[in-house]
Amino acid sequence: MTIQPDVRRSLVRECIANIAAYHGPDDPEYLAKRLGRPVESIIKLDANENPFGTSPLVQEVLSSYTGYSVYPDAAQRTARAALAEYAGVSADSLILGNGADELIDLLMRAYLDPGDELVDFPPSFAMYAFNAQLQDAKVVSVPRNDDFSIDVDAAIAALSPCTKIILLTSPNNPTGTVMPTADVRRILETGYLVVLDEAYFEFADADGQGFETMVGEVANYPNLVVLRTFSKWAGLAGLRIGYGVFPTEVSKHLWKLKPPFNVNVAALTAMQAALDDRAHLMGTVRKIIAERDRLLIEFPKTGMLKPYPTRSNFILSEVVSMDGATFRDRLADEGILVRHYNTPRLRNSIRISVGRPEQNDVVLSVVHKLAAELGL
Ligand SMILES: *Cc1c(COP(=O)(O)O)cnc(C)c1O
Repeated sequence: MTIQPDVRRSLVRECIANIAAYHGPDDPEYLAKRLGRPVESIIKLDANENPFGTSPLVQEVLSSYTGYSVYPDAAQRTARAALAEYAGVSADSLILGNGADELIDLLMRAYLDPGDELVDFPPSFAMYAFNAQLQDAKVVSVPRNDDFSIDVDAAIAALSPCTKIILLTSPNNPTGTVMPTADVRRILETGYLVVLDEAYFEFADADGQGFETMVGEVANYPNLVVLRTFSKWAGLAGLRIGYGVFPTEVSKHLWKLKPPFNVNVAALTAMQAALDDRAHLMGTVRKIIAERDRLLIEFPKTGMLKPYPTRSNFILSEVVSMDGATFRDRLADEGILVRHYNTPRLRNSIRISVGRPEQNDVVLSVVHKLAAELGL
């Protein structure tokens, strides 16, 4: 007797079938084609990339690198030593990922069984809930306060015997909110595994308003993981390289899950060059911060954008007098890509990454033009 699968029934795992597809940022090439313009003229402010590009040293080193035919070091020894010096942590505590995204995925795969719980604080980075659902885990959402701070009492009240991971982000994406260290510590004291995503660390650290990174605390809390990335400040988003600082209890398991060659040699080479040229890259970070602070003053003057405070390289704003999706589409017609949100908590909101000064001038003039059309 032959056993035939029931072809009418989907054989895919139920949790995968139920998940809504993840929509990443739009493709600038595609928009350029639609508008009949060169791709270089597209102002891409939808993914928090460094608008100045990466360092010239990275370009130079990658073009003369001769080791592309050889697999990368699976143990990432040289890279971890360089990163240890940069981040001020021990090399043993570090693991590099194919973007911080991969480390988020590895953590979820290591910790979440079906039915386990991830505690998330929306609005936050969509990949957390997305990756948790891939494990058939339950996402417990603790909504943020009106000012996007975290209600620590509500967070603690949401913990259950099924809780496995508490996911914190500082500065948070898409709100730009920084979490006070005292609040992070209160949550750490619960003993549950806390993953603190510091993807935008360099921007908060350099803006002069004070920011305390928690990387140094991983040595003191066996339940703390801190994630960072080279995608945003260092302009390496396209090469995919991020890292995490882990206590031994966590890293010993992640090493088993990590694909041996997860970070390619181009990314490792670029990371070293970025660290060598960090003075240049931090110069671009400071320019981005200055532009951010200019836009925070200029956006309200348009009469269409109500920006929230931010410590990062992007600005979340409420769109007034126009539907948010229409606003996004009108900017796209002018060659400007931004991110639109329409959730119960983020009605009619857009997130604009800070561009180069001349790009930001174009954004401001387009928004002023839209406002004039509306008679604002
Ligand atoms: C961009 C981003 C990441 C992912 O970074 P990659 O290293 O490019 O994967 C992680 N967390 C947050 C909050 C981000 O905004």
